Amino acid sequence: MATVEQHPAQTQNGAAHAGPEIPVENPATAAIVATVPDLDAAAVADMARRARAAQPAWAAYGFDGRARVLLRMQKWVMDNAERIASTIVSETGKTYEDAQLAEISYGGAAFGFWAKHAGEYLADERVRSGNLLVKGKKLLVRYEPRGLIGVIGPWNYPLTNSFGDCIPALAAGNAVILKPSEVTPLTSLLLAEGLSECGVPADVFQVATGRGATGAALIEEVDMIMFTGSTRTGRKVAEAAARRLIPSSLELGGKDPMIVLADADLERAANVATYYSMQNSGQTCISVERVYVEAPVYDEFVAKVAAKVRALRQGSPDGGPGTVEVGAMTFPPQVDIVEDHVNDALAKGARALTGGHRGQGGGHYFEPTVLVDVDHTMKAMTEETFGPTLPIMKVADADEAVRLANDSPYGLGASVFSRDTARGEEVARRVDAGAVCVNDAIINYTALELPMGGHKESGLGTRHGAGGIRKFATQQSILITPRLALKRELHYFPYTRRGTKRLGRMLKLMYGRGKRD
Ligand code: NDP
Repeated sequence: MATVEQHPAQTQNGAAHAGPEIPVENPATAAIVATVPDLDAAAVADMARRARAAQPAWAAYGFDGRARVLLRMQKWVMDNAERIASTIVSETGKTYEDAQLAEISYGGAAFGFWAKHAGEYLADERVRSGNLLVKGKKLLVRYEPRGLIGVIGPWNYPLTNSFGDCIPALAAGNAVILKPSEVTPLTSLLLAEGLSECGVPADVFQVATGRGATGAALIEEVDMIMFTGSTRTGRKVAEAAARRLIPSSLELGGKDPMIVLADADLERAANVATYYSMQNSGQTCISVERVYVEAPVYDEFVAKVAAKVRALRQGSPDGGPGTVEVGAMTFPPQVDIVEDHVNDALAKGARALTGGHRGQGGGHYFEPTVLVDVDHTMKAMTEETFGPTLPIMKVADADEAVRLANDSPYGLGASVFSRDTARGEEVARRVDAGAVCVNDAIINYTALELPMGGHKESGLGTRHGAGGIRKFATQQSILITPRLALKRELHYFPYTRRGTKRLGRMLKLMYGRGKRD
């Protein structure tokens, strides 16, 4: 695997950065691969000033002009796929395949999608009203860029979940400042290089590297904040945004349940459970975090999953593509959380059919782990583990499965398995989650037309679909009364007995014709 370039201590306007530096570690090997500046509030304010100066020209490109730049960037991502993948791998420790399928492929798709659909989702909308008071008038809704959008992202998917929301924000005509996780800033810096090469004007897209304080400073400067990360930090972000009365959109944690009904295709269900719990070392907000299986098929399902998980190869991705299925844990403290959840479950009576321990030697790893004899007294079933673990619980029937699936403060994603797709859909509709798949998991995220967002403590707002770009725009309603209008409408001053009676008759005509049954 190629090594990444060093990122010298520079702010993006090219001036030397004299402040503190953040080392970026390769979690697969514990080697430091680069350092980036830890920007303070003054540096962020300076970036914001420059972004605001640059934004009107970008807005003036119009949808077609911006689409041309975004399509160039789509090609740039594919032309530079190897370089982007090795940068992602070097700072996350994930496998090449995880970087390719869940990040490069998302980037390629998203640049094309927003280039094509931004204009359509943000086009003026003609509205018709049934209210006689506005009869004959032209009503429309229009969307305008908000100005400067702040995007704050997590470490698990530096391209998809950190940089990804910048694409619709830019497509809408905004300037964007991205604050990536301090753990994984290199991918964002590389993509900034790409955007600049592809024609995004200077200062329209900037990366504010730094820690939590840099993110907090960013919220103070922008017109809207798009946050992806933990529920704990999400609350702080929402509070800070509320103090400024700016909108915030929050994509937060999850504890996604899978429900396996007795008539499911067990081989497919076991493959989905294995892949979507262990892929990216389980560090995916919508990974399968817990499974409920109807009693008659429980033993067979568990045996299949345990065998599949036992067969997974884990280790450093440095051996190149095809060498390991499960890579490192990106954020070292996450290994402690995973270990705590597993030990808590084992202490309360659970059994690990495979795995159960942190990895030895250099780098940060936790063994792919399958837990059984689990219940809702255990953290592994109730708190976000965000690691390569899969607890599986036996349930009497679909009702118990739905009750337990909904027994969570989270409501991000979920999945249901049944050969009877109508029944699968019926069960899916009863799960309180923002996105539910039948006979699949996670793959809904690749359909950029489908809104994705959490219920309950998993977030506020959605990404993807029309809502995924309209949130980056202000909405303006326009009402136009035609030139040949009455000089005085019925309800204007002065009030007269006759006018008031006529208005009463009109209200009865409009709202009083129904029956009171
Ligand atoms: P965190 O909440 O710890 O951090 C997210 C980002 O917020 C980081 O860039 C962090 O900076 C920054 N930050 C920290 N404190 C503040 C603050 N006070 N104000 C502003 N920004 C701040 O999340 P993780 O990075 O640990 O990511 C993992 C979490 O993200 C999981 O819970 C996962 O489920 C969730 N997630 C949700 C997704 C979704 O779509 N719903 C998708 C992907 C992940 P720094 O890292 O430098 O401290």
